[in-house]
Amino acid sequence: MARYTGPVCRLCRRDGMKLFLKGTRCDTPKCGIERRDTPPGQQQSRRGKLTDYGVHLREKQKVKHYYGVLERQFRKYYQRAEATKGNTGDVLMSLLERRLDNVVHRLGFGLSRSAARQLVCHGHVTVNGKRCDISSYLVQVGDVIRVKNRSKSLDLAKGHMAENSRQTPDFLSVTGSDVPEGIVGRLPASDDVSIPVQTQLIVELCSR
Ligand code: SF4
Repeated sequence: MARYTGPVCRLCRRDGMKLFLKGTRCDTPKCGIERRDTPPGQQQSRRGKLTDYGVHLREKQKVKHYYGVLERQFRKYYQRAEATKGNTGDVLMSLLERRLDNVVHRLGFGLSRSAARQLVCHGHVTVNGKRCDISSYLVQVGDVIRVKNRSKSLDLAKGHMAENSRQTPDFLSVTGSDVPEGIVGRLPASDDVSIPVQTQLIVELCSR
């Protein structure tokens, strides 16, 4: 499973907005973009005017960075969205939002998507009672996502939940107090995405 392992604050600075990739730190004055709202790299003290292609590209990169997916995987989501009935941009965002690491994060079991991905990959999460360590697993309506009932898993998830201050989105509900668990009430829509995304720009770029 390939993933980006470099500094994440520079991704926010490159995209010019907070992508909330670092958990609680993103809400403090230590946030990288609040301290230095300039593009990363030497001699980049201001944002230049983007070309039309640049505007489209930044929108796509922003979504990739936000969900922690690389180009190849993103293309597969796009192809799947294109082959599905409905608005391609909305289907694309719904697919990305259904990823198990994203759902674990949005349930509050992981403070960031990367922390949630680690919980999943290390086997701390079950889906419908079965261990699932595939972070790209796409959840379905009615799926029950539960933290494994063992002390190490519970300590990790409850630690994250204690610090989490974000609201659970409407398509998910958190149940269970001793063993944290969440249920997928419906498929996510583009409104459930917590950052502003102009999906039309992504579709225009990918369909070229
Ligand atoms: Fe982005 Fe969070 Fe870093 Fe701020 S602290 S720049 S929101 S990853």
